[in-house]
Amino acid sequence: MTVNPREASARLAAWLERAHGVTFRFGTPVNGIQLPHIETKDEKWKVDNVYVCSGYDFETLYPEVFAAAPLTRCKLQMLRTVPQPDGWKLGPALVTGMSMLHYASFAHCKGLEAVKQRVEATLPEYVKYGIHLMVTQNGAGELSLGDSHEYGWEVDPFDKEHISDLILRYINTFLHAPALDIQERWHGIYPKLTNGGHDLVLRPAPGVTIVNGLGGAGMTLSFGLARDVTAGE
Ligand SMILES: Cc1cc2nc3c(=O)[nH]c(=O)nc-3n(C[C@H](O)[C@H](O)[C@H](O)COP(=O)(O)OP(=O)(O)OC[C@H]3O[C@@H](n4cnc5c(N)ncnc54)[C@H](O)[C@@H]3O)c2cc1C
Repeated sequence: MTVNPREASARLAAWLERAHGVTFRFGTPVNGIQLPHIETKDEKWKVDNVYVCSGYDFETLYPEVFAAAPLTRCKLQMLRTVPQPDGWKLGPALVTGMSMLHYASFAHCKGLEAVKQRVEATLPEYVKYGIHLMVTQNGAGELSLGDSHEYGWEVDPFDKEHISDLILRYINTFLHAPALDIQERWHGIYPKLTNGGHDLVLRPAPGVTIVNGLGGAGMTLSFGLARDVTAGE
């Protein structure tokens, strides 16, 4: 299933508010946790349990715990085309052989080593920047193209046009869409575990749970993980 994160996140929050009475405070960092209280800029809340899901912000809450955890950051560059004309439909999401090297779900495939050797020999620049090619279409008819993966605690604010060129060059070898004009380029960042794990669940203090480290699969896995982590509470 493909969802448009810009729509899905907002609609999920609205549904949680409406159907489950969840109270949201947007644009409001939590500055301190001393149970039974959490503090923001202008409020103090009394709570029973806290789940710290602070993404790649390792510095604000429990910085010493994050510094000791097997985590790094991953920067991804992506591009989005203009809406495709005349209602043109891509159909299912497209990926290439390089994606099979990226996702652990393909690790058991017998032919994977041969694919790896071929990609390393013929596309070294793609390996260097962790590029694998994916194309999806959103409800507005735009195509999202991506992405690259550069790892490190420090994230370079400057995007590399070379990476965009590599992405577009390869996309052009297998996708014939009517309009590949780019209207948006951006980068995203997610935390990535360095020990090969799928998630990081830590309890730095009684009643406090850190949930992090879902890497590039958090939109997919977080619903199940949330159910498991909160089971029994
Ligand atoms: C370019 C890109 C493409 C991706 N594609 C996919 C995909 O196709 N499929 C998939 O499953 N996953 C995908 N992911 C991964 C997915 O987005 C992440 O795994 C997921 O967003 C992690 O969720 P999270 O809630 O842990 O952290 P985040 O989504 O990073 O959210 C953390 C939030 O906490 C807030 N915060 C931080 N500190 C504080 C504080 N002190 N007080 C209050 N708030 C705070 C931040 O502002 C942020 O809003 C992609 C990620 C990127 C960057």
